[in-house]
Amino acid sequence: MRKPITDLIHHPYSPPARFAAPQPGIYKASTVFFADVAAMRARDWKTKAGYTYGLHGTPTTFTLEERLATLEGGSECLLVPSGLASIALVSFAFLKTGDEVLIPDNAYGPNKALATGELANFGITHRLYDALDPADLAAKLSERTKLVWVEAPGSVTMEFPDLPALVALCRARGVVSALDNTWGAGLAFAPFDLDGTGQGVDISVQALTKYPSGGGDVLMGSVLTRDERLHRALKLTHMRMGFGIGVGDVETVLRSLPSIALRYAAHDRSARELARWLQGRAEIAQVLHPALEGSPGHVNWLRLCGSRDLAAGLFSVVFDASYASEQVDRFCDSLSLFRLGYSWGGPISLVVPYDIGLMRDASVAAWPHKGTLVRFSIGLEDVDDLRADLEQALEAL
Ligand SMILES: *Cc1c(COP(=O)(O)O)cnc(C)c1O
Repeated sequence: MRKPITDLIHHPYSPPARFAAPQPGIYKASTVFFADVAAMRARDWKTKAGYTYGLHGTPTTFTLEERLATLEGGSECLLVPSGLASIALVSFAFLKTGDEVLIPDNAYGPNKALATGELANFGITHRLYDALDPADLAAKLSERTKLVWVEAPGSVTMEFPDLPALVALCRARGVVSALDNTWGAGLAFAPFDLDGTGQGVDISVQALTKYPSGGGDVLMGSVLTRDERLHRALKLTHMRMGFGIGVGDVETVLRSLPSIALRYAAHDRSARELARWLQGRAEIAQVLHPALEGSPGHVNWLRLCGSRDLAAGLFSVVFDASYASEQVDRFCDSLSLFRLGYSWGGPISLVVPYDIGLMRDASVAAWPHKGTLVRFSIGLEDVDDLRADLEQALEAL
């Protein structure tokens, strides 16, 4: 006589046939059963032909991968536990001892920290280049360069590079180009078709943590390619490094993804309205928003994103140099709707003051501003309420 606990654990279950609903079914698994030993021996975790182990994918993770590939125009996708992990995966898949990686000086900071703190331990060197100067990238490409990162725009300082030109340089030299596409999110431009002729980056990574999640409650990253050979290399490294993700988080992103275009456009609309308003304030020396004239790389944004007219919900301002950094801190503390916190893409507006001088390599390109920089991530609040909050905090200066 079997005990009830055994019958409970072996309770019959088969996924419902002929059940259709808006949300896909959610499958949680570390273990995946094989029908027999022959099927187990014949397992193939390198393709989506079958299921072998939770770490190598479930119907739920495959669904999210396929939807993200649809959004960004890639053909293959891998999921990792954070946006930073997607940068690490690409780095470890394509770099070995003696190689060099080129990173824009205005890149997402932890990408540079990965190179300094981890890649260097493996004898992999890195050099920083000026994202706004393709000639600087051209001059720094060498026999040892095996990977070039591009990012549009720069994470905090918002310079928009000539992405097609940077990527063309990599292609001409046969060097893998990888884009941090967290800002574009697959919406502002097509990473795999930058110029309308099907030429694009080799790899596009995203922090799904931002717009795809949209809630400030999930950490996840994606790595997309259109190239089977590159995907195979990434998949091998992914498997060896053991990057697993929680299915509950995958479910959350699947739930948020259908509204991403609406949310992105709403963040964008409010951000541009507030950025333009801040341009008219005497306290602000410069507004850095790629869709605004006078912002560094604006013409590059116009060329790449102008037809879609999209620009995310992120911008920075440089305060007039007459305001000490303590005063700018007080401005940030005086905001009430804007909360102090990292990341972006959620419903709540965020603000972070930065000391750019500490973040940049002056030998690459001098940072031209003296005042303190503050970055805003515009949420989904009413834009008039956000403007009033900014106004009262500026008065407090
Ligand atoms: C947030 C972010 C990342 C990292 O994402 P996490 O999920 O926080 O690790 C990478 N690149 C850019 C541009 C980001 O904004």
